[in-house]
Amino acid sequence: MTPELRAQFPILEEKVHGKPLVFLDSAASAQKPICVMDAMQKAAYHQYANIHRGLHWMSERTTEAYEATRDVVAAFLNAPDRHEIVFTRNSTEAINLVAHSFGGLLKPGQAVLISELEHHANIVPWLMLRDRIGIELRVVPILDNGDIDLNAYEALLADGKVALVAITQMSNVLGTVTPAKKLAELAHAHGAKILFDGSQSVVHSAVDVQAIGADFFTFTGHKLYGPTGIGVLWGRMELLDSMPPFMGGGEMIQSVSFEGATWASVPHRFEAGTPAILETIGLAEAIRFVERIGYDAIEAHEKALTDYAVERLNALEGVRVLGAPAQRGGVVSFVMEKAHPHDLATLLDQMGIAIRAGQHCAEPLVRKLGLHATARASFGVYSVKEDIDALCVGLERAHMMLS
Ligand SMILES: *Cc1c(COP(=O)(O)O)cnc(C)c1O
Repeated sequence: MTPELRAQFPILEEKVHGKPLVFLDSAASAQKPICVMDAMQKAAYHQYANIHRGLHWMSERTTEAYEATRDVVAAFLNAPDRHEIVFTRNSTEAINLVAHSFGGLLKPGQAVLISELEHHANIVPWLMLRDRIGIELRVVPILDNGDIDLNAYEALLADGKVALVAITQMSNVLGTVTPAKKLAELAHAHGAKILFDGSQSVVHSAVDVQAIGADFFTFTGHKLYGPTGIGVLWGRMELLDSMPPFMGGGEMIQSVSFEGATWASVPHRFEAGTPAILETIGLAEAIRFVERIGYDAIEAHEKALTDYAVERLNALEGVRVLGAPAQRGGVVSFVMEKAHPHDLATLLDQMGIAIRAGQHCAEPLVRKLGLHATARASFGVYSVKEDIDALCVGLERAHMMLS
């Protein structure tokens, strides 16, 4: 990636403990380019009012800008209908929405199938649903290399009780990219719908919800170089249309009396209350930013960095990279003998290097790996080989200090 691209991210010029920042924690939240912050500031300074209800000029213009993001997101995901785009706070809220509204229509005896790779956001809502209505929760295991066990997956679908598969399109711990199209085909062949948690995948590869055969898809703005507080649920219209609201309030009703209320049409039924207006405008700009670079360039850049990181890390004494999935996005977890990941992260931080250590909101997966925590380096469009070189120098130093 070019120096001009890095210059879009002023934070990369910052110093931490007097050292240049080496930011390797993009999978937790990506840094924001100037264009995204500019778009939000411009809206706040020149074109802002509450949306959908005002009959005045400012409100109408703001509503247009907010609704324009729906078109941008629909094109971005190749959704057939812009009304299928529901704005949420983040991926977590999008999955909770499906668990509550779609899940609430399930009956005891039906099952939801998740995987061992899942983030807590795609585990806990289903545990809550199970406890609320008595569905069964099934979990497909992973193979030793970190890929989904497809034989086990098919076996878990075989009795036809699974109503919904909810599975990640890319693991935030191992970087595993799951075979979305294959997973959807098998789910549909056994009468199940499928939700993809695209929180990580959408950052690294182009997504086409129709081509992969998704029924629901979720992602979160802040990992895609956009603002916090804005996420997306996409769902097929016939499914969304059959679902009751998730939250009650303003904007989501057709009419209200003290006897009852009738629901607005999709997507407004699922967008109760004043939404994250400026952040939604920022999300459109983040998508334009990503599309200007292009996913071919993003994928090539991240694959080169990831391959380089895996090779360099594995060559370091005492360091072990976790998993070897068939396809890996820009996320690499590793452990160092004798060093707790937290101690490692603290030592690296002293050198200005930001990595993540812990369970990465995926405690069952980390336990499955036989660990309590991992260290994780993750990459964005602004990451460079020098970041990985700095990490390796830091790890060598840490190894000497700790052994
Ligand atoms: C980050 C992440 C989430 C949750 O995203 P929020 O923005 O915190 O809601 C869900 N799934 C995966 C795979 C993630 O990486």
